[in-house]
Amino acid sequence: MSTEVMNDYSKQAYNMIKNLAERSSHSYCIVDANFLIITFNNIFQQMLGYPNEQLKQLNYITLLEEKKSGRYLKRISNRISEGKLTRVNVIHRRKKRASFYAEIDCVPFQNKTGNVSFILLFIRDITSNQLQSFMARIEQELYKAIQHEKSFIEKLELVCNGIDSMFYQHSLTSVAIKENDYIRLIQSNAVSSNDNVVKLKRPKEIAFYNKMINQKEIIIYDYVASLPLFRKHIDYANDKNLHCCALIPIKQRDGTPIGIINIMFSEQYINDKVYFQFFEKLVDLIGLAYMYELKQQEVYQLAYFDPYIGIVNRQGFLERAIELATAANGGYIQLIEAGEFSQIVELYGRDTGENLLKQICDRIFNVYAVNSMFIGRLSSSALILYVSAEKNSVHDFEHYVEEIVKQPFSIAGKNFYVTLKSGIASIEYPKNAYTKQHFIQKMLEKGRQQQEAQSFDKLKQKYEADLLDETIRYSERALSQAKKYSGTYTSFYVRRDDVDLERELEILNEITASIEKKEFEPYLQPKIELYRNRVYGFEALARWQSEKLGFVSPAEFVPIAEKAGLIRKIDLILFEKVLQWIQQRQYDGKRIMPVAINISPQHFYHPDFIDGLIELVQKYYADPRFIIIEITEGIGLVDVERAVQILSKVIEHGFSTSVDDFGIGYSSLSYLQKLRFTEIKIDKSFTARIDELSTVAIVKAIVMIAKNLGATTIAEGVETEEQQRILKEIGVEVVQGYYHYRPMPIKQIESLFDHQFKI
Ligand code: C2E
Ligand code: CA
Ligand code: CA
Repeated sequence: MSTEVMNDYSKQAYNMIKNLAERSSHSYCIVDANFLIITFNNIFQQMLGYPNEQLKQLNYITLLEEKKSGRYLKRISNRISEGKLTRVNVIHRRKKRASFYAEIDCVPFQNKTGNVSFILLFIRDITSNQLQSFMARIEQELYKAIQHEKSFIEKLELVCNGIDSMFYQHSLTSVAIKENDYIRLIQSNAVSSNDNVVKLKRPKEIAFYNKMINQKEIIIYDYVASLPLFRKHIDYANDKNLHCCALIPIKQRDGTPIGIINIMFSEQYINDKVYFQFFEKLVDLIGLAYMYELKQQEVYQLAYFDPYIGIVNRQGFLERAIELATAANGGYIQLIEAGEFSQIVELYGRDTGENLLKQICDRIFNVYAVNSMFIGRLSSSALILYVSAEKNSVHDFEHYVEEIVKQPFSIAGKNFYVTLKSGIASIEYPKNAYTKQHFIQKMLEKGRQQQEAQSFDKLKQKYEADLLDETIRYSERALSQAKKYSGTYTSFYVRRDDVDLERELEILNEITASIEKKEFEPYLQPKIELYRNRVYGFEALARWQSEKLGFVSPAEFVPIAEKAGLIRKIDLILFEKVLQWIQQRQYDGKRIMPVAINISPQHFYHPDFIDGLIELVQKYYADPRFIIIEITEGIGLVDVERAVQILSKVIEHGFSTSVDDFGIGYSSLSYLQKLRFTEIKIDKSFTARIDELSTVAIVKAIVMIAKNLGATTIAEGVETEEQQRILKEIGVEVVQGYYHYRPMPIKQIESLFDHQFKI
């Protein structure tokens, strides 16, 4: 309908409106009921860029873009036909220049019969407002993301989805980020709702993105199908008729390229100054988020770092160790702890403990091949190492650990020899190559939900983290195994530890009951004086015949009793039974020889240790000279000063003293001058290797020093004539071992003693 066919009423109204509108500084046009353009002002013409003739009789609807949802314009025109005032937000095309966001107020005019005869349209370009509010929204979302400690990648996902939602029509936004040696692609939800992050694989694509990332300016392409963009994106673009794309480089402040935004869209309306300004701001924002990420990494670094020793903490260790173990397809986890750590902390304070750990750590760096090892701090007392299997064998570990403790440590200004306990477990990677199925299977075995196992990578990551966790648990078990032994000890995890743990609990149960019933019996093992070839004394060794468990070796129950704080009671049961025996012999007028009683370190440092000894000795009217208090070498390591005090009291009260397992703590020679012992017992591991020249040298040194100090040297664990011969040659005075006698019950000793021995 044109003005010619309007009736008088309409014509009158139309002229009035036209006059009014012409004075308006806004862009307007008037269309008929079918949206054919009747008239417009200059501003409208300039806004759209079409020549006047072309605009006249143009269907206005063709200048507008349908929304993704479709049917939007249909709904709007229906409303207007009903004579309703309507505000429309839409994308508006124009000649040559990019389309713009338009806000159109539609004022329909009805004739007398109620039909719409013409419509007055006020058109405003709201692009820059629109972009500003989008920018504000994205900014807000980014800040929220920062608040919630979302990763940089997650922030980029937000940006991509934000940009996509900005367009009324289909679009696909992605960001390519340059990582160290690859390009990571983050895409909006348009393509898929999960797995929004992919690594570029095709060389052609990598090259293209790399080239674009290094561009200085925004580049607009009209025909995306021919570009070597990520294949999936091209497919999507073809499917949705997205012909154009804008590639917007992202840079750091100093111009270093970070990556590129790629927006694929259907028309070229992005090619306009307002959009370019918008993108510049957006890119600044992403650059900021990137900088924040870098800063955050620094903060992370702090959170992952142990400031005292200067190595990573547990969390930091886990993350890196997973990577290393994956790259090397396995390796070992080793835990290292100083046996005396808690006592040192108790005595000298936490700082001294930290300092000891630092010294141990420094030595680890010297001893291990640095490129085959990664170290972290597992807990306040333990260090954790990832050691690659490539450059290390199981045999190496014991050697490494022994190297670390060879020299004394400086603790609170004094030199201390420290023992190390170490637990090792190997990281058992599946032999076969990874398959998704393999991981799914593994995860299902572990009761994980299948839907949780989204992608192969995530699945693999989880599997590897679990594997490392498990290995650490095993190495912890090996460590507690190592703690059962005296001296420096390295223990490897073997599966039967599971059984051990059960047995340990069982034993612990029974020990408690047996202590009540005093079911522990002293067995005596004679010690033979080599020079005169006669019995010189005995060592009392605990024997336990449990009702439930049968015979349990002290090598098994003593460490468990120590851990449970029950060893003192067992020591005292044995002591009392030995005293009873001695008293009996005294009554009977039989000969008495010294008996060594084993005192565990825990008992030695017990506040009632001395009083307990005296009480029993007095109760049985025993002569303390016949009692040898046998303590292990390790006792002096904890606190030499205190050990000296206690030991002096023991000597003051007339007891003899013996240092057991001598030589294995490396403490050895240096503190012997402070601690006075009646006898020094050379550990049986030396006896076992006495055929080696190096062992002979060590034992010779021990014997020499012992002689200087007026102590008797005893070699333990003598099993052969040959061993005894060498030991005798070296100058060892007394031997103890199966070669002569096994530990025997008192009755058996009595019969041997009184009938066989000519003493
Ligand atoms: P230990 O004090 O070093 O005792 C020597 C161990 O060597 C004993 O093991 C003894 O039976 C064994 N032995 C003796 N001769 C030979 C030999 O020729 N060859 C070999 N291979 N071994 C020999 P046992 O009785 O099994 O005791 C193990 C450890 O349990 C002891 O080592 C000691 O540390 C601890 N223990 C035993 N009884 C007591 C006790 O009443 N109190 C405390 N605190 N610890 C005890
Ligand atoms: Ca002993
Ligand atoms: Ca011993």
